[in-house]
Order: sequence, then structure tokens, then C-alpha cells
Amino acid sequence: MEKLEQIYEGKAKKVFKTDDPEVFIVDYKDDATAFNGLKKGTIVGKGSVNNRMTNMMMQLLESRGVPTHFIKELSDRETAVKKVEIVKLEVIIRNIAAGSFSKRYGVAEGTPLRCSTIEFSLKDDALGDPLINDYHAVALGVTTWEELETIKTLAFKINDVMKEFFLSVGVTLVDFKLEFGKTSDGTIVLADEISPDTCRFWDVKTGEKLDKDRFRRDLGDPEGAYQEMMRRLSEKL
Ligand code: UDP
Repeated sequence: MEKLEQIYEGKAKKVFKTDDPEVFIVDYKDDATAFNGLKKGTIVGKGSVNNRMTNMMMQLLESRGVPTHFIKELSDRETAVKKVEIVKLEVIIRNIAAGSFSKRYGVAEGTPLRCSTIEFSLKDDALGDPLINDYHAVALGVTTWEELETIKTLAFKINDVMKEFFLSVGVTLVDFKLEFGKTSDGTIVLADEISPDTCRFWDVKTGEKLDKDRFRRDLGDPEGAYQEMMRRLSEKL
């Protein structure tokens, strides 16, 4: 497979065309941003951890019946994925209160939720990814009711698989963000990444944060947190 011209550069990844029109190559960067791009930095080794962790999770999820965009890991930082049209929603699942949920509803971080929750943000940097509900998503033409049902069902299934998996490496899955895409035949598949950039991971025993909050909140040594997550995952290989 040949890597052709770059078609997109996001905050954490670049996307390239290939000689196959149905295949893109994703290239993960070490660049880190937070607060809608206001805070910028580098987390050395992040690109490699995020690439490998995402691919491990996508393969685990595929084995449990969740369709994903994953095709093949090409290198430490590069992966071949199916070409999809990204659904303009950030899908957030929460098991424990943290971050914006804690602020918005006045619930202390770390409070377990009575049930896992889902919320949607409109993927639009200029608007600051505003929170939207199901009706807004359909009214705005971001998705259809049918696609939204598929996304919800898949998101909770992904939560079940991931919660169990991370617990087995001593990590509590607090919350995470997913993105879905539509393949050329209209199938909804999991896309984007699953990494310490997009999930909150807390050590089961100590509560230590092993995710991007170490960067967002200046808690120190984000590199160490990303490497520690990868070390735990590698033990499962
Ligand atoms: N998240 C993400 N990208 C975003 C916003 C949130 O990956 O643009 C992830 C974040 O890492 C966390 C979860 O979604 O695991 C919930 O984030 P929250 O809404 O609490 O936002 P934050 O407090 O990070 O601003």
C-alpha cells in the first residue's frame, strides 16, 4: 500500500490518502492540546502509545462484534483504516462523574453514577463542540434516528467491553469519547481513537490519573502515565 498526499491534519493526527480509494493512513503525532486548542504542548511518545492502544482496543472490539474502521497497523505511529465519513458528533460515555460533567451538574469528581450515561457534542471547533441532544442531532441533519440508535447501542456495548478489559489491568474506566464514521456502503463503524487522550483512566488501587488530565491539569509526567498504560496493556498481549 502506498502512502499518498496528506488530506487532513488535526490536533493529534494526520490523515493520508493511499493508492486504494477506500483506504486512508492515519499518522499519530506527539502534539497535545487541551481546552479547545488553548493549551498546547508535546507529550513525547504519545503518538506511538495512542496508535498501539487504539489498535489493540479496535481489535478487541471487533472480536466482540463491534464494527470498526481498523484495517492494519503499519508502524509504531501509522495505521491503515477504512475511509469513512465522520459523523459530526462526539459521543461521551461516563461511568463516574468527572471533568465537565462534575462542573455542569455540581457533582464531586469520583462520584459513581447510578447508571452509565451518554451525551453528544456537535463536532465543531469554532462553536466549542456544544452539547446537543438526540433531537438536535437529527434536526441539524448530523445523523438520522436510525443511525443514532445504532451509535447508542454500539457505544454502550463498547463501554461494557472496555470497562471489563481495563479493570483486568487494574484501571477504572471513568469516561471516554468516541467518534463514529460511515463507510461507503453506509455502515456505521467505530472510528477515530481510543487512548489516554480520549479516555479517563484511574488506577484502581491508588486513584492515580493515567491519562491526558496529567497534561490538562499540569499534574506532572504525562509521558510516564501514557507509558504506564501501554505497559499494562502489553502484559495482556
Ligand atoms: N474528551 C475528548 N475530546 C474532547 C472532549 C472530551 O476526548 O474534545 C474525552 C475526555 O478525555 C474525557 C471524556 O471525553 O475522557 C469526557 O470529557 P469531559 O466532557 O469531562 O471534558 P473535559 O473535562 O475533558 O473538558
